[in-house]
Amino acid sequence: MTRPGFVSLVGAGPGDPELITVKAVKAISAAEVILYDRLVAEELLSYADPRAELIYCGKTPGHHAMTQEMIQRRLVECALEGKRVVRLKGGDPFVFGRGGEEALALAARGIAYEVIPGITSAIGAAAASGIPLTQRGVAASFACVTGSRGAGHGEEAAGGPPVRWDLLAHSVDTLVIYMGVGQLKEIRGELLRHGKAGSTPVALIEGGTTRRQRTFTGTLAEMHKLAAAVQLSNPALIVVGEAVAVREQLHQLEVQAAEMIG
Ligand code: SAH
Repeated sequence: MTRPGFVSLVGAGPGDPELITVKAVKAISAAEVILYDRLVAEELLSYADPRAELIYCGKTPGHHAMTQEMIQRRLVECALEGKRVVRLKGGDPFVFGRGGEEALALAARGIAYEVIPGITSAIGAAAASGIPLTQRGVAASFACVTGSRGAGHGEEAAGGPPVRWDLLAHSVDTLVIYMGVGQLKEIRGELLRHGKAGSTPVALIEGGTTRRQRTFTGTLAEMHKLAAAVQLSNPALIVVGEAVAVREQLHQLEVQAAEMIG
């Protein structure tokens, strides 16, 4: 009989390879098989044992190199062979990462697994852009929302509950929208239709926390034009709310302070 395998569902963090947990690095080093996604920083694979088998699961929006079913089957097979398996995902495995479905597939086969959290891109990208997701007197709540809808548009399973833009527009102060680049116009339309002010500050953050990070700010009314003008590309997040204005405040204070010192 082979020894029982073990699967770690691991969050690789938001992009900067240094924003990974110590626990995640230990799991990568100990793995015999690593199934990794497109959004995982390449540098992180250097922690792997040279003998480890590396399997790229390469999802791109609307296009799957390996289907979710194939990934889950592979995870189960490797674990049943008695291997130490790491499933390495961008951000956090349980935030728009389909880690929940993988955990269910493993649990259904009685396979031992663990979940190692990661810094989700909303947290990483906001920090790296000077946008506090909550701020006393400005924002008391934030939500992570999917901007993709229906089958084939994103990485979430089709047939999920619809996004309640009507409620989100009013009850959450800072909205962080994942997988929304292709739906900017629709998202803008939904939020405006449900009463969010066109003047609400918006940030578009591309490649958050990576060396290629770009952050642009504007208003909700104009955000689709801004995205087109800067040729926003994936991976990117949309942040909507007054907290975005804190970024400008920080910038102004930094300029003033530099002038005082200089
Ligand atoms: N599990 C991941 C999210 C996967 S869904 C997490 O916790 O972050 C993929 C979406 O995440 C992308 O479409 C984009 O909206 C967002 N994303 C991931 N990495 C990003 C980054 N470095 N900068 C901006 N957005 C990012």
